[in-house]
Amino acid sequence: MSTQPVMNTYSRLSVAFDHGQGCWLFDTDGNKYLDALSGIAVCGLGHAHPAVTTAISEQASQLIHTSNLYTITNQERLAERLTQISGMDNVFFGNSGAEANEAAIKIARKFGHTKGIEKPTIIVMEGSFHGRTMATLSATGNRSAQAGFEPLVGGFVRAPYNDVDAVKNIISNNANVVAILVEPIQGEGGIIIPADDYLNQLRDICDAHDMLLMLDEVQTGNGRTGTYFSYQQNGILPDVVTTAKGLGNGVPIGACLASGKAATVFGPGNHGSTYGGNPLCCAAALAVVNTITEEKLDQRAAELGNKIADGFRAQLGDAAYVKEIRNKGLLLAIELTEAGTELAVLSKVKGVLLNVTGGGKVVRMLPPLIMSDTEAELLVNTVSRIIKVYMADE
Ligand SMILES: *Cc1c(COP(=O)(O)O)cnc(C)c1O
Repeated sequence: MSTQPVMNTYSRLSVAFDHGQGCWLFDTDGNKYLDALSGIAVCGLGHAHPAVTTAISEQASQLIHTSNLYTITNQERLAERLTQISGMDNVFFGNSGAEANEAAIKIARKFGHTKGIEKPTIIVMEGSFHGRTMATLSATGNRSAQAGFEPLVGGFVRAPYNDVDAVKNIISNNANVVAILVEPIQGEGGIIIPADDYLNQLRDICDAHDMLLMLDEVQTGNGRTGTYFSYQQNGILPDVVTTAKGLGNGVPIGACLASGKAATVFGPGNHGSTYGGNPLCCAAALAVVNTITEEKLDQRAAELGNKIADGFRAQLGDAAYVKEIRNKGLLLAIELTEAGTELAVLSKVKGVLLNVTGGGKVVRMLPPLIMSDTEAELLVNTVSRIIKVYMADE
């Protein structure tokens, strides 16, 4: 049997990129691609952003890693900026979204034990995605991602997404519930946008039952949905919020922010990470956070996202094969009535990078927050045309 040296965990498109600039990627044959995926909501500032490049290079020449056994000044600075922006009280840094969620899950469990609940249980949602580690995979609401990896981690119960009554029902039948873990918008699930007051209602439920509201903003955070964190549009404060993807613009970093009673759950020895929040990653993230806030890129995401969605509606809104065009900022989806998995390949051939989620029916675009109006027009025109041709509409 012949095998490739890289383990076979992704079905990859046959292209390798050599360098990038802004919203553009250039492959090893010199072809260029408009990047409407941002490495899955990671490169919000696009590629080779000077603020990030400078921060990384200067920090790398000075100090890459010490240890969390010592004070890390960049980590303290980053925590200060993130708590200022979010209204949260403190931050734990890891290296990925899954690790940020692991921290959240551990906070919820210890919070429960402190209250005398021996089998603390967390409500999670159908269609959710929280990561690939055993606990976050168990929290994920996607059977095909879990299949083959049983036994899963216990302590999770599942409710349909955007269904407040189902959550209330679970709580009234289960005295072990200590927290709700939920995405403000389901990203991997297909850009599913719940009712405007969904998070507010979950906040009320958590307040009424002394439970933690834990928001997974790994994908929605860092300006993408129109505010730095998506929950800020609801005027609420969660007990825990996790983020990663867009935080480091490609340098691996994840953060678990906590407020109020959740912020005092962990003590020394309760959690840790060797690399977490090291000088290099925090330097990159500081540059990202400061650029997003100083240049108001969250507001730009709101405006540009609506503009792109309107553009798609003008070109595809009437097509019978388009079920819905939706967005929150620069989380954009064109939901088709039938599977269009090949569209990721076809659009790559036409020089646009996007992907297809939600059971193959949702064309997902997560463009860099720095995309220009001209690039956005090119995106709308190219992708509309690709979908029309694919659907044999012209
Ligand atoms: C991508 C994602 C994760 C997992 O992040 P990793 O960095 O891949 O571990 C968790 N939650 C959400 C909502 C995500 O989109």
